[in-house]
Amino acid sequence: MQIYKVGGAVRDRLLGKPVTDIDWVVVGATTEEMLAKGFRPVGADFPVFLHPKSGEEYALARTERKSGRGYGGFTFHASPEVTLEEDLIRRDLTINAMAEDDQQNLTDPYHGQRDLESRILRHVSPAFAEDPLRVLRVARFAARYAELGFTVAPETLDLMRQLSESGELEALTAERSWKEISRALMEDQPQVFIQVLRDCTALKVLMPEVDALFGVPQPEAHHPEIDTGVHTLSVLEQAALHKQPLTVRWACLLHDLGKGLTPEEEWPRHIAHEHKGLKLIKAVNERFKAPKDCQELALLVGQYHTHGHRALELKPSTLLELLQSFDVYRRPQRFEEFIAACEMDARGRKGLEQRSYPQADYLRGAATAARSVAVQPLLEKGFTGPELGEAIKRERLKALKAYKEAASA
Ligand code: ATP
Ligand code: MG
Repeated sequence: MQIYKVGGAVRDRLLGKPVTDIDWVVVGATTEEMLAKGFRPVGADFPVFLHPKSGEEYALARTERKSGRGYGGFTFHASPEVTLEEDLIRRDLTINAMAEDDQQNLTDPYHGQRDLESRILRHVSPAFAEDPLRVLRVARFAARYAELGFTVAPETLDLMRQLSESGELEALTAERSWKEISRALMEDQPQVFIQVLRDCTALKVLMPEVDALFGVPQPEAHHPEIDTGVHTLSVLEQAALHKQPLTVRWACLLHDLGKGLTPEEEWPRHIAHEHKGLKLIKAVNERFKAPKDCQELALLVGQYHTHGHRALELKPSTLLELLQSFDVYRRPQRFEEFIAACEMDARGRKGLEQRSYPQADYLRGAATAARSVAVQPLLEKGFTGPELGEAIKRERLKALKAYKEAASA
């Protein structure tokens, strides 16, 4: 049997990027031979094994053929006769379809190296269209390598557009989609991911709520960029520049969905968009089965981001309601993430990227003030049950009044 490094490891070595995980392909072997060498089989879908020592993935060379809708609709054929070239042609992009032996001799039948040099993301063969997940993968790679100047080849974008229009994207499972979306959002330029999805019309299928924001104007005084879609991309860009976690990035992407529902007569104002957007945020959350912390933060940021911007003008009672809604006493981290998302929203506006955001420290101070209310003295006074709750609230309100007065003095 011959063993080759394939995919990301070869690509990233040639790009001079750090290689994290290595995928291997094995040519000329049977499952029985692999098991005899101590490899452990994984996954029911494909003949893939884990190395007994390194734990890295070794896949038998295989060919694939589409036999139905969705990812389940694949039949594969693995046998010792399948050649390296046959295995490589089923891969998504030319830059991912190179293999290397232990002497670093490159097998590159589909000119991945040429495309690496000319910074092109190009599909390997028309079979690209057999797995709609590749639309998301290409957009993710575009986000990752945008910094190096990579763009999607026009003919690949055409194929992605055809796939998006064919209805095939709808066959993707929430799990496969979320894996790509979450990884793409954590890239350095996640806004490129959304932009590429939009360029190939996939965004309209996957997240019509986000797609609808493009072409929706906002008041120029607060939003020099005017367009809500452009603003959303900038907020995401800021979130990545500021190394925000996935929860914050997800919330940034979805925070303004309500603006897509404003009747044109009301443009460029968006009255109550925070509240109107909640059902859309919920729908997107559920469509991709986003993890609970992402779902929660997106909804809270959607509902309260304007509160965040107006923090310094909020009445103490409104501040208290905000802090209670976040359960800031038990969930301080979530409130920090809310503040971060608000700040990214404020900076994701043309020409305002460097502005200061005093609301952030003000909100932190308010949370500290409310949290500093001690429960013990109230217990000692004999409060219990719901009355204790009310008493704590009163004390917190007092603390916030004092905080606001001190801050404005
Ligand atoms: P990463 O750095 O994100 O791990 P990668 O290229 O190694 O990038 P993997 O998901 O680890 O990506 O997949 C390894 C290789 O398998 C890819 O380089 C590609 O050749 C192939 N591959 C993975 N998923 C698909 C797919 N859905 N369609 C076609 N080829 C795929
Ligand atoms: Mg990999």
